[in-house]
Formats: sequence, structure tokens, C-alpha cells
Amino acid sequence: LRQERQDINVVIEGSLELMRHRLKLQPVELLFHLERNLPKIFIDRGKIEQVFVNLFNNALDAMPQGGKLYVRSFLSEMKAPGDKVGNRKGDGFKAGEKVVVTEIEDTGVGIDEGIVNKVFDPFFTTKDRTEGTGLGLSIAKSIIEMHNGLIRVESVRGKGTKFTILFRLFKEDR
Ligand code: ADP
Ligand code: MG
Repeated sequence: LRQERQDINVVIEGSLELMRHRLKLQPVELLFHLERNLPKIFIDRGKIEQVFVNLFNNALDAMPQGGKLYVRSFLSEMKAPGDKVGNRKGDGFKAGEKVVVTEIEDTGVGIDEGIVNKVFDPFFTTKDRTEGTGLGLSIAKSIIEMHNGLIRVESVRGKGTKFTILFRLFKEDR
């Protein structure tokens, strides 16, 4: 990993730049809610861009007729177990710990309840062999875990899908 202090919004913008051509191919409304002046996080920019590119590609695959793509970043605080941003047992985040959160949400086809827990498995795909390798999310998950972060998914079939990524703060900012 080549980790440096980075503004997550700059990395998000970099990954959207890589998506520029594909974004022109279908009518996607991009909706940003990027909090300014977020604390910088200690990340490998190229690798995190790859994570976002994988998520954007999946979102576009899920909305062939177009739709909305929400991209959000904000500072949050880990709460007690069960809270929305969440702190499930084993996450390794402390209650009260601040995190930079990124959400990528689409209004696409969604994921069936029965397979939502499989999407991070290597080679799991619902796409044609020619379209999907089933590696995008497993790579995304390993990159996020290399950064001691967390990635999770929520989805409603026919409504859409939201991926949430939590990044720990740089030591001095905690
Ligand atoms: P691939 O895109 O090659 O199939 P991924 O690891 O990127 O592999 O995704 C695995 C599977 O998870 C996809 O085949 C799809 O079924 C599901 N999936 C991932 N992201 C989304 C999304 N945004 N909307 C609907 N389904 C998704
Ligand atoms: Mg993919």
C-alpha cells in the first residue's frame, strides 16, 4: 500500500473522472452530498479509486435504463451497537470513534435478499460470463480491509442498492 493523507472527496472525484466515458452512455443523474473540509484519511489513492470505480460500474450495470446515483461523504461518529452508521460486534470500531463515511447508492434493480450476503465472495456474479468476473466487490472488500475500514451493503430488490464505506481517521485527528 502507498498510503498518504488524502481528502476522500478528491479521490471520489478522481474515480468519477475515470468513469467519465461510461457515464455518458446512459442517462444517470449524479447527486452529490460531499461534506467539505473532512479530516484527511491515510489511504492508497489508486486503490481506493479502484474501489469506487468497481462500485460505480456495478451501479451502472444495475441501471441500464438510467437512474440516480447518489454519492455522499460525511464525518460521523460510531454509536452503540445497532445504530444506523453502525457498530456491529467484530467491526473493531469503538463507540464514539469518528469515521469518514462514503455512501454510493443507486436506484437500480437491487439485490435479492437471498444473495446479498454473497456479493463480496470472490467469483460470485449474477452477470453473463462475458460481462462479469465476480471479482469487483471481493477486491473492493480486501482493499477496504487493508485500510482497516469497513464496507457494507443494503439493498431492496427493484428499488436500489447502497454501499457504505467507513474509514478510520488518521491518529492525530481522532
Ligand atoms: P460482477 O460485477 O463482475 O458481477 P462484483 O463482485 O462487482 O462482480 O458484484 C457481484 C454481484 O453483486 C453482481 O453480479 C450483482 O449481482 C451484485 N451487485 C453488486 N453491486 C450491485 C448493485 N449496485 N446493484 C445490484 N446488484 C449488484
Ligand atoms: Mg462488478
